[in-house]
Amino acid sequence: MVLESKTKPFTTINKDVTKVFALGGLEEIGKNTYVIEQGNEIIIIDAGVKFADATMPGIEAVIPDYSYLKENRHKIKGIFVTHGHEDHIGGIPYLLKEIDDIPKIYAPNLAAALIRYKIKDKGVKTKTKIETVDGNSVIKTNKFIISFYAVNHSIPDAFGVCVMTSNGTIVSTGDYKFDWTPLGHKADIDKMSLMGQKGVTLFLADSTNAEVTGYTMTETIVVKRISELFAKAKGRILISTFASNVHRIQEIIEVATKHNRKVIVVGRSLERIINVIRQMGHLKVSDSSFIKPEESKKYENHQIVIICTGSQGEPMAALSRIANREHHKIKIIPGDTVIFSSSAIPGNRADVERVVNKLTRLKAIVEENSPLNWLHTSGHASQEEQKLMLNLIKPKYFMPMHGDYRMLKTHKETAIAVGMKEENVFICANGDAIIINNGECYLSDKRIPADPIYVDGGKDMSGVTTAAVIRDRQILSKDGLIAIVVSIDSQNNKLLAPPTFISRGSFYVRDAAPLVSEAISLVTKAINEVLKSERPTFNSIKNSIKSTLAPFIFKKKRRNPIIIPVILNKIK
Ligand SMILES: [Zn+2]
Ligand SMILES: [Zn+2]
Repeated sequence: MVLESKTKPFTTINKDVTKVFALGGLEEIGKNTYVIEQGNEIIIIDAGVKFADATMPGIEAVIPDYSYLKENRHKIKGIFVTHGHEDHIGGIPYLLKEIDDIPKIYAPNLAAALIRYKIKDKGVKTKTKIETVDGNSVIKTNKFIISFYAVNHSIPDAFGVCVMTSNGTIVSTGDYKFDWTPLGHKADIDKMSLMGQKGVTLFLADSTNAEVTGYTMTETIVVKRISELFAKAKGRILISTFASNVHRIQEIIEVATKHNRKVIVVGRSLERIINVIRQMGHLKVSDSSFIKPEESKKYENHQIVIICTGSQGEPMAALSRIANREHHKIKIIPGDTVIFSSSAIPGNRADVERVVNKLTRLKAIVEENSPLNWLHTSGHASQEEQKLMLNLIKPKYFMPMHGDYRMLKTHKETAIAVGMKEENVFICANGDAIIINNGECYLSDKRIPADPIYVDGGKDMSGVTTAAVIRDRQILSKDGLIAIVVSIDSQNNKLLAPPTFISRGSFYVRDAAPLVSEAISLVTKAINEVLKSERPTFNSIKNSIKSTLAPFIFKKKRRNPIIIPVILNKIK
């Protein structure tokens, strides 16, 4: 017994261990979903989504594999939401569709409103109740005592979570930064320090800006700078920012009102969030501050601000369409000031440049964020703030979360720099489970299924098929498709007519007549060879078509299209 307990301490000594794992959020930015389990109880912290990118054609969203939660659905006590960003709440409709008996969602004010909107918008029928929580809320289950503490972030009502268990206290930061002059609520430093004094066993902290040295600059400076530009601008102002930066949007609208400018909102994601915060009374401006684009003729240029999407140069967003002179309601007037209250996410730089150039050509004055022109700041803690947080919480064990692998790794180094033991920091992947047993943490040898699930226009697909489907779509979008239609007489093993060659998105057949006829004769030869063999099958014919055609097309056209052999069997 004793020997066995040494090798498996958590299963033999104490059956009532606490298990902590992520279904999403590790080695990625997106789909944050953290799970804490003890005995017959499970709580979920956040249920986020990840947006599909250009490498996933036709995919609407990526969510975690919820199968472990489905299998253990009877244990789930609730979802505890830290704040209203998509990477923390966007998975909720999908999760509720799969598990319709989750008793409750506990969410701060704005997040609760956004979740209600989301559930309605996606048409999800659910019995799950949504309860609003704040820094004073304490929720008790048999195994857990859960409370919240205010943090600074880029959206109102952002909180970290504290979960007390019989094995130790687990604290998560949610998304956070330290801003001593925040636009929203103040961070609850007292509570952070108090948790640290009482003792935190396992700490989970936001790693987004782990590689950024120094401090994240206060939002107040950004708003001041925007205000200066408003004072200076003689014509209209167009300002673009992230729809997720709700604080900034609020301030822009309020600054506009102070400068006697009417606000026009352009872009769906912005309209949606501004509607929600207006309904909630988050905006200290009257309804008459907002006008429709058509009403702008009634006002002078200096009385108008247009808030629009497209700060990343996204081709379909409002600002790009305005720059391309394709927007049906808004045209650039020479002398307009265009403010990018954002910074380009790596990879989008070229798109942003293109939009800036076009706007400048249309004689707009373009203002972009730079070290001398503070028009944007991050919502996440940089290294020095991460050090402060680690000093306040003083955790025994640490699991960096919310970040790519490199960010998690750098966050680990920061933790070691402030005095944590290297062996007490866990760099985990989604599905890795940390076991807490009586104040000590171990990595479990059992992993939880946590592969990404790709949501395709409402239906979800999973596992191997999914990856294969996406691969096909990548090939289709890049190299196109070639179909070879063959009609054979399978009783006499004879080809009835020359194969037909159909190309879609690969190359233009009419311009490639010699290549097509060469391809057809090669394929014909290959098929006849198979038909002459002892036992020709449909599969062997298909394989011979593919293996003949693929290298030929690659040699001639440097392309790898999907090749689909279609065999028509004519039996007389
Ligand atoms: Zn966030
Ligand atoms: Zn986040």
